[in-house]
Amino acid sequence: GEPLGVNVRAVALDSGRVAIEAADVTEAHRVARVRRDFVANVSHELKTPVGALQLLAEALLDATDKDPAAAIRFAERIKHESTRLGRLVSELLELSRLQGAEPLPEPEPVDVDKITAEVLDRGKTPASAKEIELRFQGVRGLTVYGNENQLVTAVANLVENAIAYSPERTTVTVTTSEDNGYVEIAVADQGIGIEPRDIDRIFERFYRADRARSRATGGTGLGLAIVKHIATNHGGRVTVTSTVGVGSTFTLRLPSRPTDAALAIPPSVEI
Ligand code: ADP
Repeated sequence: GEPLGVNVRAVALDSGRVAIEAADVTEAHRVARVRRDFVANVSHELKTPVGALQLLAEALLDATDKDPAAAIRFAERIKHESTRLGRLVSELLELSRLQGAEPLPEPEPVDVDKITAEVLDRGKTPASAKEIELRFQGVRGLTVYGNENQLVTAVANLVENAIAYSPERTTVTVTTSEDNGYVEIAVADQGIGIEPRDIDRIFERFYRADRARSRATGGTGLGLAIVKHIATNHGGRVTVTSTVGVGSTFTLRLPSRPTDAALAIPPSVEI
């Protein structure tokens, strides 16, 4: 487990006696460790593609005269790596904005149909590239309370993953429903599924159940961390159920009315 952190201080009192003060800094230690790990992860995740780009650029220069076909291959890999690096940087910025100590920008009623329409539109091209059927099923006319851009980002990330981690010619279904002052937006796929040992960790920053596959799909490991922050910033949450080889369902549960949590400073203190 986590080591206990206690700061102890001896104070000389005017009376000539000594007082011992002890402060519990366990939480502060935890936050400091999370921050250290995060910075180490960021450095690693940034240095790897930058290093690869340097090597590829050298190889490209070398091959230009000698082996034009190889030069084209190197140029293509440079394009791929730099796209991924650009994505990583913008997702890091997005995450750090969400984690900043700012309240949700101007929470307001958001039309759920607008969210799903935008998400289905964005998913069209990647879905058809894998002949995946992207379907909507559910209740129309629902409203949630929050920020439209953030909510579109969250649901779009779930749909993007559903497509990325599914084989060709399967179905991805976006469902909306209402339950007791909450709206649920679920994204179900018939994809590879998630092992029980990974399922609690996939919302952590940079955690990827299968690094090789995630890299091939262009994944950064930040998508679900972003979704989780958006959910909690809205006073909601995101959950997942999954069966390996059968598929996964991610459910975003959001308050349909203003809540304290949606207006308060986000609970996260991580970096
Ligand atoms: P990535 O950029 O790697 O997709 P995410 O934070 O979005 O990062 O997801 C973290 C990990 O969770 C992924 O690497 C993958 O292993 C797993 N995952 C996410 N969504 C799905 C899904 N729909 N089906 C199977 N695995 C998934």
